Amino acid sequence: MKRRINLIIKNASELITMRSAKAGPRCGHDMHELEIIADGAVAVDKDKIIDVGRSKTIAAKYQAAKTIDAGGKTVTPGLIDAHTHPVFAGDRSNEFEMRLKGATYQEISAAGGGIKSTVKAVRKASEKELVHISLPRLESFISCGTTTIDAKSGYGLTLDDELKMLRVIRDLGKIQPLELIPTFLGAHEIPPEYQGRKNEYVKLITEQMIPAVINDKLAEFCDIFCEKGVFEIEESRYILDFARKHGLKIKLHADEFAPLGGAELAAELGAISADHLMAVSDKGIRAMKEKGVIAVLLPGTTFTLGLKNYAPARKIIDNGNPMALATDFNPGTCFCESLPAIMNIACTQMKMTPAEALTATTINAAWAIGRGESLGSMERGKQADLVIWNIPSYKHIPYHFGVNLAMAVIKRGKRVI
Ligand SMILES: [Zn+2]
Repeated sequence: MKRRINLIIKNASELITMRSAKAGPRCGHDMHELEIIADGAVAVDKDKIIDVGRSKTIAAKYQAAKTIDAGGKTVTPGLIDAHTHPVFAGDRSNEFEMRLKGATYQEISAAGGGIKSTVKAVRKASEKELVHISLPRLESFISCGTTTIDAKSGYGLTLDDELKMLRVIRDLGKIQPLELIPTFLGAHEIPPEYQGRKNEYVKLITEQMIPAVINDKLAEFCDIFCEKGVFEIEESRYILDFARKHGLKIKLHADEFAPLGGAELAAELGAISADHLMAVSDKGIRAMKEKGVIAVLLPGTTFTLGLKNYAPARKIIDNGNPMALATDFNPGTCFCESLPAIMNIACTQMKMTPAEALTATTINAAWAIGRGESLGSMERGKQADLVIWNIPSYKHIPYHFGVNLAMAVIKRGKRVI
């Protein structure tokens, strides 16, 4: 008697399961070692994966209400983007052009650009408008094979506007299939009205914003832009420690431009991840490894800024640190929803292998957003988030760049593309 189930995807040239004998993110050589089932199939019931194996074996065990023939193409878990800023109004295309002509950050800022211009636009926009503007971006993430994202606030920078952004993130998660994990980023920048009064803004974050975010259950993580001239180590420690003690999990934008010690702080506080890390020190890499802090690298920003100082991905991987890749999708420094594009940059510019890049955008990214137990690999009981790619091998995801290769996307067991 065959067990009746909802869905079988069969005839995959390569079914990349991302299963691993050990729990936790894959590190070192394990990032490169993939389980590939040739002529593979995956069995799904309701919103969960129940089995993987050869197509023949799966067909012998299960009777599915629906079967999708992958037609000799590649099937992977849905991609996970562990760092995005998807809710904002306006855009910064003028700034992009100014930068190409050689304008400095200061000049752009003086001309009304930079993050402050996005903050201005977000404050003006209503909740309804922000939902409306953000929806097509989420569709774009899904169409590129991404099924879950971390989604940050951080362009409001007042109590009301930060809560507004987080409610938009919550509401977006209810009206379309992409799953959004909410992250409070009130400490993204010092708002213009607090220039020269940073301590008062830090107080606003801890005394009003974080309690309200927790009270309204609007975020799972608290993030901070830990950087010279923005939130320095002491302020970052104070805010993150406060957030942690009040029940939020923590992550950091760390060591992006200067080796400030953000990685070391992430290790000290037990952050789930430290992100960017272009200027991370060797000491920081060692401290992160010791505490299991996941390095989330965002090479799309380095690329967009036309810089060459990519984060030391090889050093981080070869040292055995857990690491993930993300887009850092945002209007200023990386206006790109496509993780496959980021995988191409990671391979060509940071010398990661295609297998490492896929590990970094599936199972390791799942751990970086606190979902390692339920997402990121094809294992019995995990959520059925899957992508069928129009390619013979997973290596084509970073190799065949600049076009969309995702043929079908399945979220919670339902085909959404
Ligand atoms: Zn960011």
